[in-house]
Amino acid sequence: MKFADLHLHTHFSDGTFSPEELVGHARRLGFAALALTDHDSVEGCAPTAAACAAAGIEFIPGTELTAEHHDIEVHLLGYFLDIHNETLLAEIAKFQAVRQNRIREMVAKLNQLHVPLEVDAVFALANCKSPGRPHVARALTKAGLVKHLDEAFERFLRKGRPAWVPKAKMSALEGIELIHRAGGLAVMAHPGLNRTDEIIPALVEAGLDGIECFHTKHTTAMSEHYLEIADQSNLLVTGGSDCHGFSKGKPLIGTIKLPYEQVEKLKAGVESRRARAGSPRSASRQPQ
Ligand code: AMP
Ligand code: FE
Ligand code: FE
Ligand code: ZN
Repeated sequence: MKFADLHLHTHFSDGTFSPEELVGHARRLGFAALALTDHDSVEGCAPTAAACAAAGIEFIPGTELTAEHHDIEVHLLGYFLDIHNETLLAEIAKFQAVRQNRIREMVAKLNQLHVPLEVDAVFALANCKSPGRPHVARALTKAGLVKHLDEAFERFLRKGRPAWVPKAKMSALEGIELIHRAGGLAVMAHPGLNRTDEIIPALVEAGLDGIECFHTKHTTAMSEHYLEIADQSNLLVTGGSDCHGFSKGKPLIGTIKLPYEQVEKLKAGVESRRARAGSPRSASRQPQ
């Protein structure tokens, strides 16, 4: 049977694998298709596409946008994106700048707490346009200022802890529109983690295409619950490991094996969305 993992991170955001390492694990595990969904970035898509092509794995260009609706945080997965779409790249660049400024603010707070972390050490370690709290945690660990990543989050970086800084987020409705403008499908990520049930109807109304029913941190009951919602709201079903690298000594990729049949449904879905989006636009482009 063919299977896919549609939620993966590389070192182009807060994952630790390079595209080549990630694809190496995917090949060893027998995956037929992968989607790369780095946070607020599409930078890793081209190298991951190349590594997938060399490994005979189908590649779906994607991203994971940090968004919100009525103060509820929601992560939006975009799939089959045109990674050269100018509007998409401009919006992503804005939120990458937000991320970089937030790193500076978090480090300033740490310094006020007499934790002598240097901001350049974080940027050097992150070495990407879309840095996040995990990079601060890793830099703290590397500098010997905490013992491990958990301590960094527990003492400083978790929401409400003294070095935590809120992050300006994209509106979820705008995020969905942005993904559609870039020719993609918009999918709600790990709804079981963000407790986003109450905003599903509004997002469906705005054109949400799918929901991530299968995720490493979803219980069987959660997956069943979201499969039911997908069925009721006519949403596509996705799933992925949300691999950021090694977890307890093993690469997290491989924990979710989405049947390839769902990828075929996604492909049919994106074709029909593009056909629907294309028709009024081509009608308005009649010669004058
Ligand atoms: P950010 O987007 O900068 O707010 O960072 C969020 C990312 O941090 C998530 O995608 C996770 O990868 C990671 N993360 C969040 N909480 C924790 C935690 N308690 N321990 C380790 N990693 C975490
Ligand atoms: Fe992450
Ligand atoms: Fe997420
Ligand atoms: Zn993720």
